[in-house]
Parts: sequence; structure tokens; C-alpha cells
Amino acid sequence: MNVRRRLIPVTALTAVTALGIGTLSACSSDTAAAGTGKFDVVASFYPMAFLADRIGGNHVHVTSLTSPGQEPHDLEISPKQIALLQDSDAVLYLKNLQPSVDDAVAQSPVRTKIDAASLTTLEEHGNEVGGHAAAHDSHPGEESGGKDPHIWLDPVRYAQVAEGVGKAFEKADPGHAADYKKNTAALVKQLNELNTQFEQGLADTRTKVFITTHAAFGYLAERYGLTEEAINGLDPESEPSAARVKDLEKMARADGVSTVFYETLVSDKTAKTIAGDAGLRTDVLDPIEGITDRSRGKDYFSVQEANLKALRQALGAK
Ligand SMILES: [Zn+2]
Repeated sequence: MNVRRRLIPVTALTAVTALGIGTLSACSSDTAAAGTGKFDVVASFYPMAFLADRIGGNHVHVTSLTSPGQEPHDLEISPKQIALLQDSDAVLYLKNLQPSVDDAVAQSPVRTKIDAASLTTLEEHGNEVGGHAAAHDSHPGEESGGKDPHIWLDPVRYAQVAEGVGKAFEKADPGHAADYKKNTAALVKQLNELNTQFEQGLADTRTKVFITTHAAFGYLAERYGLTEEAINGLDPESEPSAARVKDLEKMARADGVSTVFYETLVSDKTAKTIAGDAGLRTDVLDPIEGITDRSRGKDYFSVQEANLKALRQALGAK
């Protein structure tokens, strides 16, 4: 389903960077401490760590490969992290988001490998806008097959992933299966409630169109009948051309758009330039790829609630 129309022609797919796969051959003897006495889970980035924390509760020790504030797509896994991976009981990751993690997991002997992307359905949003990768320094493979990796921003898909992670934990650590089951049920219930909040909050709005600098909200848009206009192919540090701004202005007028959204982990310069030229306001729509002091909330749920509030205001909710 086509939820994003192409706004601006994408020309920035040329800046392909080489992947630092060389680090993978190094240093497997430099192992980390052998276990914590708990079920040791290595999570690739925040949305995975949050699931592991909530589902595992007291029984798990969760380590995230991506530190808070770090753009997850840019992660280059270190030899130390590879050692950590080897000593862990399980790894929870999202294939095609972080190529460096995919490679490390593929080569790792860790017994339980949980790929979140395999626990829900993925769609091709990238083709319509020239690829989310363009907004993130064009990492090849980020959306291999054109699949949009940003499933966690759709509460329904995130709940499906939670169910799968719960089952995987039960199987890998059967001594605590009852607790994993209980924690999963509680998390899924909370995600269902969040879904209802979004459905009701976005049901009646003046416009259905919103503009983002980061093409991360395709699943969310589709879930709630919205259209994401992603300003793709623009380097966050570069200024858009006059022609691009003109296109944007035209579209914004036609669709009654009020706001250009930017995200917390990347510069807001592009959003501010476009908004200034088009007479629009700017606001934050957080892709929740990490939680920092600048996040509008302390965890997935509170940031999603802030996202809903921002969307309601931008779309003119009644
Ligand atoms: Zn992203």
C-alpha cells in the first residue's frame, strides 16, 4: 500500500560507504566476563533492549550494542562487543537495520538468535521514497529488498514482535517461562492500549499528511490512515535547493500541512530551513532509535505518547 508519495527526487544514494567488516576477524580471545548468573541478552539497539527488559524482568541481564544517542544505523560493532556476543545466552536484533550487527550475529556461536524482523510482516516503503538509507548516509543493505525496518513504531507490529520474543525466551530459559509469559502478556496489553490511543487520537483530523526529515514512520502512517511525506535524499547538514522548497510548499499548501517534523538524534537544520521558507512550524517526531536526555519521555511508551500529541497538533485533531 502506497502510504508515502515521493516528495523530492532522490539523488543522494551515491554516497555509499564501505562497511567495516574487518573488525570481525579480530580478537575473539579477548572474552568478556563469563556470564552474570542471569539470562544474558545482547540487544542491538533501544527498541530491542526495551523488549528484552520488559519481557525478561529480573531474570535477564540486557546489554545494548548501540549506546544512547548513537545513530543505530551507523553502528560499527567492536571486537569487545563481539566477545560479549559470544558469551551471551541470546541476541535480539532487527535484521537489515544494522549491517555490522547482522554480520556479527551470523558469525557468532550464540545459541539463541532472535531476529525481530522475522516475527512480524515487513513492507517495502523504501522504494517509493528512494530508500530510507538516503537519510542515513546511504548504508547499503539497510533496507535490502526494499523492506522498511522501522516496525517498532507501529504498536501492532511491535506487539507481534514482543509475542515472538516472549516465546523465544521461554524456550531458551525454560526455568523462568511462566514469568516471561506473564511479562509478555502485560507488555502486549499495554501496546494494544497504545494502539487504541493512536486510533482514537488520529481518527478525526483536519489533514492526514505530515512531513518528516526521517522516513521512519511508514508503518505508523499506514496503521492510522496517514500519509508520510519524507524529505528524503537530503543530507541533514545540507540546505535544500530553492526548487525543492518550492515543491514542498506547493504540496504543503495543497494538503494543509502545518508542520515539518525532525528527530532527536539528527540535526534539525534541514527541517528548520524548509519550514522557515514555507512558513510552517517545526516539531519533533521521535523514531525512538535511542533514548537520551533530549527525548520527550523516558521509555518507548512515553515517547510514543509524545509522538501522538505532536501528530494530533500537526494534523489538527478535533
Ligand atoms: Zn531509521
